[in-house]
Amino acid sequence: MTQAIVLGAGMVGVSTALHLQTCGWSVALVDRTGVGMETSYGNAGLIQGEAVEPYGMPRKLRQLWAIARGASNDVRYDLRSLPGHFAPLFRYWWHSAPKRHRRISAAYSQMAAAATREHQALIERASADHLVRREGFRVMERDEEAMAAALADAERVRAEYGVAFKFLSASELAAAEPALKQAGVGAIHWLNAWSVSDPGALTKAYAKSFTDAGGTISIGEALSLRQKASGSWQVDTQGGVLEAEHTVVALGPWSPELLRRFGYNYPMVRKRGYHRHYRCQPTLHIPLLDAANGYVMAPMARGLRITTGAELSAPNAPSTPWQLERAERAARELISLGEPVEDQPWLGTRPCMPAMLPVVGQAPRHKNLWLNFGHGHQGFTLGPVTGRALAELMSGEQGVL
Ligand SMILES: Cc1cc2nc3c(=O)[nH]c(=O)nc-3n(C[C@H](O)[C@H](O)[C@H](O)COP(=O)(O)OP(=O)(O)OC[C@H]3O[C@@H](n4cnc5c(N)ncnc54)[C@H](O)[C@@H]3O)c2cc1C
Repeated sequence: MTQAIVLGAGMVGVSTALHLQTCGWSVALVDRTGVGMETSYGNAGLIQGEAVEPYGMPRKLRQLWAIARGASNDVRYDLRSLPGHFAPLFRYWWHSAPKRHRRISAAYSQMAAAATREHQALIERASADHLVRREGFRVMERDEEAMAAALADAERVRAEYGVAFKFLSASELAAAEPALKQAGVGAIHWLNAWSVSDPGALTKAYAKSFTDAGGTISIGEALSLRQKASGSWQVDTQGGVLEAEHTVVALGPWSPELLRRFGYNYPMVRKRGYHRHYRCQPTLHIPLLDAANGYVMAPMARGLRITTGAELSAPNAPSTPWQLERAERAARELISLGEPVEDQPWLGTRPCMPAMLPVVGQAPRHKNLWLNFGHGHQGFTLGPVTGRALAELMSGEQGVL
């Protein structure tokens, strides 16, 4: 009999299902579209071992003013949607105060430190090595002042957390990435980050190793979740009703919607992001973040993928890819970008919690309802870490963290 239903087959749900299976559980994974088709498909494909501190909300007046007047391409907002964001944004601002952010980073850095090790175990199990590069990624700066600030911050992160980086001058960056037409004032090369050529394919490869070992995957509707009087959980799938003693909510940005039906209010800062692939030959060897313009260029199987920063808009607002248009213009200064591969840009949402930590554990008022969501900017990185942590918690085993 199925012991656990995992709702959501993104990186977080797939990793949770795999780890439960390793702990001896019989597991059914349920998703309404398929495996790795949403946020875990559309991201920049970075496994960020260097991301030891979560993205805090900018608090300096200079930064806030740049966002307010639309000068920053990192963050954009739709004024009409701001009332809906107010409560989570206020909490996010509160948690982002330096003292609180430092405390949160102490926990976050432990997850980041485990990320590449935990991915490695799943990569080996899935024979997915061909999708992964272990050469880091680079953050390019365009002016000396910004580079001096970035270097000082990188030195601090190295001193506090032992994260390795290398400074590259403009000529060293140009030599490392001959496809670049200009190399700004150089780059910081974060050495212990990995990147993948197709994030959706890596999620699918992990899922295949789950089904190869006897797990099942069904197309189904998580919003049909209900608890029987006996305490067990049921959900409707195309193959019929699934029932299990335990269920895990790993629905990424859609998790609060389901949990509201059970009386829980999890405020989420929904940061939308866009991507598009471009034909590009010659292309980059590894991903590059253009810090001045707030986007990442990542070489992927479908082309050079440009991903944007955060957009605050209403949950079902139409696509407004202005940040992508600006990123594309900036990218064309750096590299010979060809035509876009897709007719329309992809759009997804980073599921960010105001306290910047994912929600991992048992739901406070429902027995055997487990939660694993809210991984924000780094869910592709952290899925295997919190997947293992939750599976061990559910199994009463020693935690990974
Ligand atoms: C532009 C962008 C760039 C990013 N870059 C990076 C990066 O480089 N590195 C990194 O670590 N992170 C990155 N992230 C963040 C990362 O992609 C997410 O944190 C992560 O993918 C979340 O994974 P998840 O499994 O929680 O959610 P998802 O991958 O979204 O999975 C949730 C699943 O739930 C399913 N679902 C939803 N509702 C229902 C329902 N009612 N019934 C059944 N199924 C349902 C969906 O179909 C989906 O498959 C980026 C995000 C964006 C938007």
